[in-house]
Amino acid sequence: MNKLKFITKILHNPFLKEDPHGSLQMPIYDNVAFEFKTSEDIELAFQRKKPAHMYSRISNPTVEAFEQRIRAVTDAAGVIAVSSGMAAITNVLLAIAKQGDNIISTKHLFGNTYSLFTKTLKEWGLEVRFTDLTRPENVQPLIDGKTRGVFFETITNPQLEVVDVAAIAKIAKAKNVPVIADTTLTPPYAFNSKAFGADIEVLSSTKYISGGATSVGGVIIDNGTFDWSKNPKLKEEAKQFGPFALINRLRREVFRNLGSCMSPHTAFLQSVGLETLPLRVDATSANSLKIGAFLEGHNKVKAAHYPGLKSSPFFKITTKQFGERAGGLLTFDLSSKKECFKFMDALKLIRRATNLNDNRTLILHPASTIFCEFDEATRKELNVRETMIRLSVGIEDTDDLIADIEGAFNQI
Ligand SMILES: *Cc1c(COP(=O)(O)O)cnc(C)c1O
Repeated sequence: MNKLKFITKILHNPFLKEDPHGSLQMPIYDNVAFEFKTSEDIELAFQRKKPAHMYSRISNPTVEAFEQRIRAVTDAAGVIAVSSGMAAITNVLLAIAKQGDNIISTKHLFGNTYSLFTKTLKEWGLEVRFTDLTRPENVQPLIDGKTRGVFFETITNPQLEVVDVAAIAKIAKAKNVPVIADTTLTPPYAFNSKAFGADIEVLSSTKYISGGATSVGGVIIDNGTFDWSKNPKLKEEAKQFGPFALINRLRREVFRNLGSCMSPHTAFLQSVGLETLPLRVDATSANSLKIGAFLEGHNKVKAAHYPGLKSSPFFKITTKQFGERAGGLLTFDLSSKKECFKFMDALKLIRRATNLNDNRTLILHPASTIFCEFDEATRKELNVRETMIRLSVGIEDTDDLIADIEGAFNQI
């Protein structure tokens, strides 16, 4: 099984237990509790001496099958599926840091993550030290004895900056700080986070993995590369569980106690989504490149940004990290907010909606939506411009998409 390629492995990864009916797809175990034959069996399960599903908030066969498929293709130490991308980020940070600790990140983040850092977690005493992570040399001076992680998005949403993961990992590793990468825009298949030195991957499986915007979910992937004895909170756990210390702490405490489990129904939908992830990453990446080139050459467009375009300042690092799989997100600027709205309203095929990596192409004006809770000065710091439109490219025929865009340009 080990030598198989990504898509083959996803499709043929065996279940942990053979299905009694020989079902080819893991059925939806939409139940809460699991029965034990004897009281001793249930005691052994609680003592973790005889692993078994007990209660679906903690683990469930359908959710586990989804986790195991991701584990098989990432070669990770452990995978935990959670209720959303935000839950994945929150769980990891709450498991590795405590009050008074800090993490290093950039302000160029998904809006809700920025809000989590500057509002929710700040009030609980976690300091986030923001810097420009496109310059890896900025990391080292910010690391001190209380730094518990470096956090970034592989491609930032919506700035579309690409960080050099290996360069940041080298600096962090030398200081025994784990690297946490939000790989929502470049999930496994587009990016091999382990090969580039990221220790933990968190991602919103709502986006690419769900495969057609069927369900909200998140995934935590621990590559098993960080020595958790170097983390004060997980030091004791590391003695017993080694590279599984974080996964163990999450499963047996943080994730369990926060109650942020993925539902079995969602796990089923996303497991089916996962089967076609490679096809969709390739299709949307190819479509985005074509549309990016079209937008770049259009006289109504002030600037077009897509990391897979040769004109992008991040083209080289994009190619190194993701090959031709630069994903389905691009942005472009028109001359004003008013013009952006007029253009978006004139589209006939492309949908106005706030999501990414739907099979359908979606369009959004980030400044007036995801980032509307921030004042203008903050938006400027986050480089979320009034003139910027975000396009999440789907798997439609590009000719139809370009015709729709051209039609709308003709009306502004
Ligand atoms: C959408 C998104 C999230 C949050 O994911 P949810 O599943 O909506 O909670 C986190 N990071 C990035 C980069 C995202 O695009």
